[in-house]
Amino acid sequence: MIEEVFNVKLPVNETLTLKRNRFCPEDITTSTKRISIVTGIHGDELEGQYVCYLLGKWLNEHPEHIKGIIDIYPSMNPMGIDSITRGFPFYDVDINRIFPGSTSEFLPGQLANAIVESVKGSDYAIDIHASNIFLRELPQVRISKLFADTLVPLAEKLGIDFIWVHDAVTVLESTFSHAMNTLGTQTLVVEMGVGMRITKSYGQGLSEGILNLMAHAGIIEKKPMRVCKTAVSTLNSNVHFINASTSGIFVPTLEHNVIAMKGEQLGEIIDPLLGCVKESILSPCNGLLFTIREYPVVYEGSLIARILEENKAEKQ
Ligand SMILES: [Zn+2]
Repeated sequence: MIEEVFNVKLPVNETLTLKRNRFCPEDITTSTKRISIVTGIHGDELEGQYVCYLLGKWLNEHPEHIKGIIDIYPSMNPMGIDSITRGFPFYDVDINRIFPGSTSEFLPGQLANAIVESVKGSDYAIDIHASNIFLRELPQVRISKLFADTLVPLAEKLGIDFIWVHDAVTVLESTFSHAMNTLGTQTLVVEMGVGMRITKSYGQGLSEGILNLMAHAGIIEKKPMRVCKTAVSTLNSNVHFINASTSGIFVPTLEHNVIAMKGEQLGEIIDPLLGCVKESILSPCNGLLFTIREYPVVYEGSLIARILEENKAEKQ
């Protein structure tokens, strides 16, 4: 059932509309569980579009297995998705930095408020992001330390490779996930893939993981899947950031999602004019290469890779 949850008139006879697709059983009671799947807060991140499609397809094909309410919001920033713009067009504002918003704010704040009011009351929410155009990410769940006790066991139901527990609360307070977790909706943030692209295998893996989580929560009837071991990092010191020391063109040596050994070459920054290597980027430790630069142009300080140091990550 397609529902419009927010409508606002734009200057030249157009309308900004926030839509969701609701799947639910015929008999809804107060104990019926509800999950909201949201994506597209950043309009240049498209990996979540494929996940919404796969979930909708499964739910369309198995209406008899639906026991709870599933709300799918593919486009939280409708004008951003339509124009492949990360922020809210014209206002140049990141919607995921203005939550919870209010009805008396500027238009992006009103949209944020409408999202919160619409998702409020859900038992669970999953907010799917796709990095940006610069970095490719292994599928991972990012959780604020504040909510780790309840959210880590929930995230493990997704059968995802990596759970990263952050402690940078000051940065995260204005996000959708913080707003919803504060209101009692257990909300997970998934980062995966790369901006403006779709990685089919990641989309398939995550949609199966979400179906598994829904089965555990009693929202759908489905045999739970066997989930793989998830690496959980609860300390920021486990995660190494590798930045460029010079400008140039980055060419990776290692594939994404491999164990890099200490001293192994991750890639090179080359100089096309002189025909030489300006910098050889080496791994600082043994660990999982979970972020790798996708966009070749780099400047001094550009992020090249992130590695989760082995041994320090607890296997759960
Ligand atoms: Zn994002």
